[in-house]
Amino acid sequence: MKTESKTDLYRKLPSVDELVHRAEVAALASQEGQIAVTDAARAVLASLREEIASGRIDAAGVDIALTGLDAAVERRVQQSLTYSLRAVINATGVILHTNLGRAPLADSALEHACAVARAYSNLEFDAQSGERGRRDVHVERLFRRLLNHEAFAAEGARATRPEVSTIVVNNNAAAVLLALNTLAEGGEVIVSRGELVEIGGSFRIPDVMAKSNAVLREVGTTNRTRVSDYERAITEKTRLLLRVHRSNFQIAGFTEQPRLDELVSLSRKRNIPLMEDLGSGALIDLRSVGVGGEPTVLDSLRAGVDVVTYSGDKLLGGPQAGLLSGRSDLIARMRSNSLFRALRVDKLTYAALEATLMAYVKGDHDSIPTWRMMRLSKVEIGRRAEAVAERVPSSKLTVEVIDGESVIGGGAAPSAVLPTRLLAVTCEGLRADELARRLRTSDPPVIARVEEGRVLLDLRTVFPEQDDTIIRTLRAASS
Ligand SMILES: *Cc1c(COP(=O)(O)O)cnc(C)c1O
Repeated sequence: MKTESKTDLYRKLPSVDELVHRAEVAALASQEGQIAVTDAARAVLASLREEIASGRIDAAGVDIALTGLDAAVERRVQQSLTYSLRAVINATGVILHTNLGRAPLADSALEHACAVARAYSNLEFDAQSGERGRRDVHVERLFRRLLNHEAFAAEGARATRPEVSTIVVNNNAAAVLLALNTLAEGGEVIVSRGELVEIGGSFRIPDVMAKSNAVLREVGTTNRTRVSDYERAITEKTRLLLRVHRSNFQIAGFTEQPRLDELVSLSRKRNIPLMEDLGSGALIDLRSVGVGGEPTVLDSLRAGVDVVTYSGDKLLGGPQAGLLSGRSDLIARMRSNSLFRALRVDKLTYAALEATLMAYVKGDHDSIPTWRMMRLSKVEIGRRAEAVAERVPSSKLTVEVIDGESVIGGGAAPSAVLPTRLLAVTCEGLRADELARRLRTSDPPVIARVEEGRVLLDLRTVFPEQDDTIIRTLRAASS
């Protein structure tokens, strides 16, 4: 029998044009769009041609492939039309996981964003006057209630402190940039060497400083900085004293850092504003979940810090945003900086932020997933873990419930952990990292930790309605 040449095999293939005009494929195009279908047809034919060229397929193989051509195009189209950005199940126990999108949003935030974005809105429209309004009014009034109320209750505060204002930019990195550029362009900013931090995603204080056109004036040493170091560094060029929260590291041992009130006194005495990059920006005290040493935004303002910068999607539990709260006169200068216009956020962010802040105003903290997760007790998590462990019967899987620790993450209280109960899973004939890989590539993906040859799942960061999916995914991954 004559073996057909490659040229003969190529000739059996339809052209892209012929393929897309077949009834089945044309019907697909009317549903999924001509572009996706033509791309898929081109790709399917190209891979067949490639197989012929490499000799991996003979005449019989080509005939089989040709009968399945329409289906192959359809599969390719479906693949290309799935979303790249999608929901995953976070079983790592890291509550604010930057790679997993940080804070999940409250239902009210999602509903408000939907309602506002689906139609037109009064984003910059004052219905009273019928004239142009400002987009920041929508959250400003809530920030005032959350930050002024108590700040002014502090003794003597009313006499010495102007009202607190807040503006919103794209993220905290943008907030720091805007503040430094507004308050210190062409001048010097004094920072402790112990606070020249780098946060993941290439946010480095010295780099942001350079971009803001302010000059960094480092004082003290890595482990010890005193208020006298700041004082000695002050010249007529000094525009700002900057304190940066050590978000993701700790300095232990022979250390010294000036107290906030000492820096406030110095800033008052020399009439130089004091700014604090808080990073996480808790609106409620973490001591309520047993974590100490993490200052709230209000703590800093009350202590007399002039401007505080923080993220919207860390401990606040809202959308990605950078918040600047502080002295109204300084915030007003930032608002009129043209950088503010470049760094502003859209209506989705304002809507999600407004609803999240509303939950704080109402005291409804459990509606904010970040706080709900932080407040879960070890006992509650243990109960769920036991229930999951009982329902994953499989000859190959061994599931144990053990003590462990969840991490807040997102640059809050770097050493703070919350006691939890973990599912520790091993699978006969499968290494832990292979099991973890299978979980990760499931639909939906389940992200877990691997430690000491076991896969560890922390249900603190898993929504209770996802427990069934965890069970199903574990079973499937083991088979
Ligand atoms: C997280 C963090 C930032 C960066 O905030 P983004 O909102 O991610 O831009 C800056 N400074 C500190 C201290 C932080 O913890």
